[in-house]
Amino acid sequence: MIKKRLFTPGPTPIPEQVMLKMAVPIIHHRSPEFREIFKRVNQNLKYLFQTNQPVLTLTCSGTGGMESTFVNLFSPGDTIISVNGGKFGERWVELPKVFGLNVIEIKNKWGTAPTENEILEALKNNPNAKAVYLTHSETSTGTATDIKLLSKIIRENSDALICVDGITAIGAHELRFDEWGIDACVTGSQKGLMIPPGLAFVCLSERAIEKIEKSQMPKFYFDLKKALKSFYDDDTPFTPAITLIIGVDEALQIIKNEGIENIWHQHKRKAMAIRAGVQALGLKLFTDKPSFAVTPVWLPQEIDWKKFNSALKNIYGITIAGGQEEFTGKIFRISHLGYYDEFDMVTMIAALEMCLHEVGYKFESGIGVKAVMNYFQNNK
Ligand SMILES: *Cc1c(COP(=O)(O)O)cnc(C)c1O
Repeated sequence: MIKKRLFTPGPTPIPEQVMLKMAVPIIHHRSPEFREIFKRVNQNLKYLFQTNQPVLTLTCSGTGGMESTFVNLFSPGDTIISVNGGKFGERWVELPKVFGLNVIEIKNKWGTAPTENEILEALKNNPNAKAVYLTHSETSTGTATDIKLLSKIIRENSDALICVDGITAIGAHELRFDEWGIDACVTGSQKGLMIPPGLAFVCLSERAIEKIEKSQMPKFYFDLKKALKSFYDDDTPFTPAITLIIGVDEALQIIKNEGIENIWHQHKRKAMAIRAGVQALGLKLFTDKPSFAVTPVWLPQEIDWKKFNSALKNIYGITIAGGQEEFTGKIFRISHLGYYDEFDMVTMIAALEMCLHEVGYKFESGIGVKAVMNYFQNNK
């Protein structure tokens, strides 16, 4: 018997109590019963983002949530600055161009994060920039950006809105929407929120909400003015993914009971333990600024990715993520985002050891597992 285990940065595993909640018969969304659930969701989403601002729930994947920011906060011809350090950053350069925005790209080598100076220079060269788009945790490269620091720099040096792709960061990395002065932040349901794909969440500052009024961009489904109007009645303009909202209600209560600071801390511990494990095996990390959501690792040159991945999947039941674009076959990514505990990390490294052994890689058996256990034991 093989037990299947998912270690990918979206979708992520779903807690049993969340699955059970979603298994009950459907209810109608224009009912007091649903409104009560949605009201609680809306409150708890504020806790998740550490904000008093509205967090809108849209029925779409994370990309739809990001698209909603581009089409609501700006008008065609507006200039925005967008950081591209991977697959998702690349999307936040391509997508706004489709809507006629003038996109100034800050291109970072994969595995690196934008620096203070790069942001300052782009702002200096483009004083008309209406926003800066940053990816908090670039999932394709497992690289984290210092949003707290860069938000401060952007606020001090411009009036540009600070827009953050928080899709794999929310729930894994500290993020304080109000305190850090962020203007728009997006996440998706199948990442740190531990439910199936299908919902996006968009948090907006006062400044961002003011911009919506002035936007000349065409939109209908993603009209956030409509979404905001409904939000204040704990309602949605269109039929929401009711079942997923019921799921996220349960997931948010789990997060609240654990405490968001504790959730951030546990993600850091899981990430550090996995890093200790892979490094003990003699493997190298792909990035200097690894995310707490996903750990990217160089695959030793002598190992064939396809053989390695298929052994991991078919013999041990483990699904991880590979590299993308030029790093296909060169790196692999282990996710620890969402519903995982310490023993899941031990299991992951144990499977990695068995699989590496299978493909002929030489190391001292058990050394990775030992490093993971030691990390947890010595770092509470
Ligand atoms: C998953 C992900 C997205 C895209 O989300 P979809 O739900 O696939 O649309 C965007 N940005 C980051 C950082 C992601 O990890």
